[in-house]
Amino acid sequence: MKTLLQNGTVVNADSMFEADVLVENGRIVSVKKGIVPDGAKVIDAKGMYVMPGFIDTHTHFDLDTGSAVTADNFDTGSKAAILGGTTTVLDFATQERNGTLKEALAAWHKKAQGSSCNYGFHMAIARWDAQTAAEMDDMSAAGVTSYKMYMVYNGLKVDDGQIYAALKEAKKHGALIGIHCENWEVLLRMCDEVKQSGVTGPEGHPLSRPAAIEAEAVARYMRVAELADAPAYVVHLSTAQGLLEARRARERAQTVYLETCPQYLLLTDERYLDADAAKFVMSPPLRKKDDCEALWQGLTAGDIQTIGTDHCSFTMAQKAAGKDDFTKIPNGSAGVQHRAQLIYTYGVLEGKLTLQQMVKYLSRNAALLFGMPDRGEIKEGAAADIVVWDPNAVSHITDTDHAHHCDNSPYAGFAVKGRAKDVLVNGVHAVENGVLKQSGAGKYIARGRYQRPL
Ligand SMILES: [Zn+2]
Repeated sequence: MKTLLQNGTVVNADSMFEADVLVENGRIVSVKKGIVPDGAKVIDAKGMYVMPGFIDTHTHFDLDTGSAVTADNFDTGSKAAILGGTTTVLDFATQERNGTLKEALAAWHKKAQGSSCNYGFHMAIARWDAQTAAEMDDMSAAGVTSYKMYMVYNGLKVDDGQIYAALKEAKKHGALIGIHCENWEVLLRMCDEVKQSGVTGPEGHPLSRPAAIEAEAVARYMRVAELADAPAYVVHLSTAQGLLEARRARERAQTVYLETCPQYLLLTDERYLDADAAKFVMSPPLRKKDDCEALWQGLTAGDIQTIGTDHCSFTMAQKAAGKDDFTKIPNGSAGVQHRAQLIYTYGVLEGKLTLQQMVKYLSRNAALLFGMPDRGEIKEGAAADIVVWDPNAVSHITDTDHAHHCDNSPYAGFAVKGRAKDVLVNGVHAVENGVLKQSGAGKYIARGRYQRPL
């Protein structure tokens, strides 16, 4: 089965040109002008951008936090993903404190069966010891070449020595470790202080986790990585101060990679005064306008490498569990469907990013950093994960008009331009004219060693 994308403008992270793109057996087989259809199914891409399928570096589908299970599982989450042009997600498989990495991987493979987008797993390490260290060999063999460790949360938190040791071990495997950077001990104290002051609503959430909570943790992680002589990856960076700490480490010649999220670029902590403020409760919390601007500048300058969503959706009924105590509101929000529209509208169309930078941050850098070099690029031989982007579509995001399996969106009220008109997943024409036509076309991606991003 051949598919021909005709007369579009191909946008890669490092090039942009007019060409037809021919797809066969899940691969891009030709990229040039004037390809003759020769029986291929033709998709008219005139006036459209033909981009590599977007890669979301950060999702939580079917996650049980202990007190709540995310509203989206792999079925609903992956459908929302491809409708937004995201053809691959990297979800977090999470080790149980008394379990093994292998058990966690098996559990997540089961959850992801039937996914409509491609998927890989970062492995969250909840216990660092000799057994876990030895399991990194098995993980590499199974295509897991990135890990996450948390400085926060009971049941997940590891200490600095464990991070140091894990960084050294991961380096041998060409694997990256992403760290959730917040100072847990201090933020717990601050949560108590905020509640004792009489603030129990969602507006207490940002008060208990100010920018320095993140910046201190980023600075500490940078020094631990320096001592381990290993590359450092920071997930969901949210503050100007945190970015500054990462830049300082780079000035010491350290290798540092950064991920931010649309919510830290587009939303501020004023939202915690809204009637539906609980939906904005996520960690790290929303910040100030200056932080958003610093992060945009970081993207413009190339200081930040990826934009993931941290999609972790809960219904308003689930969020209501914390109506008398903000620390009991399930943390997280929905976003996997809207990332590209938001970055296109508020990044590209506002002149902060070029189209090529959009592809770099939404796709190519993730492919390189996370060991999927044949993705994130429209070229002969690459995997046929492709988005036909209609730059002229106009819509509004609402709380309900999306494919996320929840009744809220932090971006409700945002006007967006552009949309994923057609989406190919492994060469399968899954989204046609904005409508999901083929589900279940996703595959597990066994990943290799990390490569330097653009
Ligand atoms: Zn997360």
